[in-house]
Amino acid sequence: MTTDPTAPRPLPGAGRNRTGSPGPAGAPAGDPGDDPVRGPWGSVMGLALDQARAALPGGDVPVGAVVLAPDGVTVLSAGHNEREATGDPTAHAEVLALRRAAAARGEWRLPGCTLVVTLEPCVMCAGALVQSRVDRVVYGARDEKAGAAGSLWDLVRDRRLNHRPEVIGGVLADDCARLLTDFFRAR
Ligand SMILES: [Zn+2]
Repeated sequence: MTTDPTAPRPLPGAGRNRTGSPGPAGAPAGDPGDDPVRGPWGSVMGLALDQARAALPGGDVPVGAVVLAPDGVTVLSAGHNEREATGDPTAHAEVLALRRAAAARGEWRLPGCTLVVTLEPCVMCAGALVQSRVDRVVYGARDEKAGAAGSLWDLVRDRRLNHRPEVIGGVLADDCARLLTDFFRAR
């Protein structure tokens, strides 16, 4: 499974250069293409949103995640919330995607990889992200009540840890948040 090969390749280290040059030209429609930091991640967030929707039939909160290989294009794995579907309290989208990416690589360490998720990770998932040694975390909607990547905590960038992934938040945030709002409103 790979992403559209014509899609722009995310800029390595894009989040560290918020005032730098624009992202790659030709960003797909619907991307925040005028944003050089977030724009390049729009198409991959679209895949994570597809995953999030796949959580709905099982009655789970629609959160989805994908893990990209170090090339920034190849999708190693995907996952969505499966707590209700499996009765597993740790079955968050990020944990499942990380486990599957590690299985695909035959290695628990995932250096160079990027996890893209529709909702800011919770403390458990932030811990799993640090443990997995991914290089980068890209998320959509902020979680002001439980987010651990900049909102309530900033565990992934805690200077006391020796591995700190880069964080890029707010990619297709409105689309990601709307899916959640609609889910909770319908309950
Ligand atoms: Zn989580």
